Amino acid sequence: MGARYDLPEADAFTRTYWEAAARGVLLLRHCGTCAQIHHYPREFCPRCWSEDVSWSAATGRATLHTWSVVHRNDLPPFKDRTPYVAAVVDLAEGPRMMTEIVDCPHEELRAGLELEVVFLGGVPRFRPRGTTLAVGGE
Ligand SMILES: [Zn+2]
Repeated sequence: MGARYDLPEADAFTRTYWEAAARGVLLLRHCGTCAQIHHYPREFCPRCWSEDVSWSAATGRATLHTWSVVHRNDLPPFKDRTPYVAAVVDLAEGPRMMTEIVDCPHEELRAGLELEVVFLGGVPRFRPRGTTLAVGGE
């Protein structure tokens, strides 16, 4: 298999996150000192720098903040997937997350669209909440 640019390399710290994702669970980091929840996972709280940070499972609910339909990306595997929808979503728990929107006609994308997480190949993506169609992609 050639290089892929959509899957981060898991180190000892982020392995927990990716193992949960493989089981269909989106993990966030919760600070025991200031109660801030953050994403992507860091070993310190980005707000108060506390090390008292633990994993917690997200509801998987989010709303669409902004997005861009990508028509060209020469890096594998994106090259074979264009056009796709790169997006920033607001997770129900608060953090913003860079992701991809699937199972949604581009003309139905709008700010505030209610989304739910769906895992494709162990990578969290989002689709309109209540989607009953089979998941496309991989
Ligand atoms: Zn904190």
